[in-house]
Amino acid sequence: MSRFRGAEAFAASGDDWQLLPFRFERLNGRVLVTNMVGEHLVLSGEDFEVLATGELPADSDLVRRLRAKQVIKRSGERAPLSLLALKARTRHARLAESTGLHIFVVSLRCEHSCPYCQVSRQSEDRDRYDMTLATAERGLDMTFRSPSRSLKIEFQGGEPLLNFGLIEEVVRQAEVRNRDEGRDLGFVIASNLALLSDEVLDFCARHNIHISTSLDGPADLHNRNRPRPGRDSWERAVDGIRRVRETLGVDHISALMTTTKRSLDRVRDIIDTYVDLGLRGIFLRPLSPYGFAIKTKSYSAYDAERWIDFYREGLGYILELNRQGLDLTEYFSTVILRKMLTNVEPGYVDLMSPAGIGIGALVYNYDGSVYASDEGRMLAEMGDETFRLGHLEVDTYESIMTSEALLAPLEESFALSAPMCSDCAFETYCGSDPVYHYATSGDFLGRKSESDFCRRNMAIFKHLIDLYENDEFARRTFLSWAGR
Ligand code: SF4
Repeated sequence: MSRFRGAEAFAASGDDWQLLPFRFERLNGRVLVTNMVGEHLVLSGEDFEVLATGELPADSDLVRRLRAKQVIKRSGERAPLSLLALKARTRHARLAESTGLHIFVVSLRCEHSCPYCQVSRQSEDRDRYDMTLATAERGLDMTFRSPSRSLKIEFQGGEPLLNFGLIEEVVRQAEVRNRDEGRDLGFVIASNLALLSDEVLDFCARHNIHISTSLDGPADLHNRNRPRPGRDSWERAVDGIRRVRETLGVDHISALMTTTKRSLDRVRDIIDTYVDLGLRGIFLRPLSPYGFAIKTKSYSAYDAERWIDFYREGLGYILELNRQGLDLTEYFSTVILRKMLTNVEPGYVDLMSPAGIGIGALVYNYDGSVYASDEGRMLAEMGDETFRLGHLEVDTYESIMTSEALLAPLEESFALSAPMCSDCAFETYCGSDPVYHYATSGDFLGRKSESDFCRRNMAIFKHLIDLYENDEFARRTFLSWAGR
């Protein structure tokens, strides 16, 4: 005897409406329903029951709500299918626009010695650990081979300002090439700002360069996290942020924090520091399992649950500050809210499926090696070259993008066909992150039931939906974040 009922058992009563593909998750007695492009609504247990059993009266208000979200359609209707197809195409339009972000690791040298550094920095030997002009020019060739209309070139390290002459040359050459190409071209320097000079600021002002920096919170926390000669990392970062704001404008600087064990009880202090400096947002992010974070055991110093508590408290405080009239954003939540509440795919590499590696970003290491992501490069510095896609001297954009080293993790990690993810109500908000899962479980897919990536993301999705549904102020704030 079959364990499954026949298809007729699932047909709508009276043939008035039919189910479209949807997924669901129970949330404190209510049920979250998401359609195949991530639009959501929350139903009472009783409403969900009548939907699932096909007993929903055709003239009920719930039918209107479910049709509006393309969870059901009237028999014979074609428009909802066309609408779903259009929304799905819009969401995946970015795939044809690969690769938008090109990261040049212009030096592996750094004068900081952060114990949780996710890169295996070097302190000496300029000749050995700096990118040469010839390598950078090949990186530019590869950058302009990608079909994306929008190209962002990001300079990273080590500390990229230690090889600032090369940054100047790459920017100049990219701008010259772009006169013919006409792409939407932008530049970012990811720097700790300790070496920021007037010369650097002047060049950034003339070439509209954005600065991304690291700020872990108040001085004592930041300086313990980020040792450097003189123990003045915080003072230099804060002075640098002020000078960038004055010279380039408030929109040309953003800061990232990393959560160490010492940060966990201090999320309010951390946020207050950002507010005091006039920064408009903060990215609450956990440590990643790469580089010195593994060697020094910083990564294993706290678990996913403890980080989720930190995030919840931080988001609650940010909303409290917004209630008091401050305009402050939490960036990770904003990426997710954009996926939940709009049809725009924000292109955040860790929350993409197919994964963002290669498609969303390529990394050109100082020595000419090409990696699928910055994390893939960090793994290579630890001795594992799984995500090395080739070398600028011998490979073309085409050979890189069709390499087995890229296609295998993309295919194997695809969330729509992954156990747990394919049934998960949050799949369209989530990603696959094959580098993280390879680093933590040894394969590109990972076991989601044991994955901290899954645990953290699922907790955040639930928390955001809970706030959105039950707190009118949070709802309005989230809508404004998602629309930015
Ligand atoms: S990783 Fe977890 S939260 Fe994300 S889609 Fe898969 S099962 Fe859902």
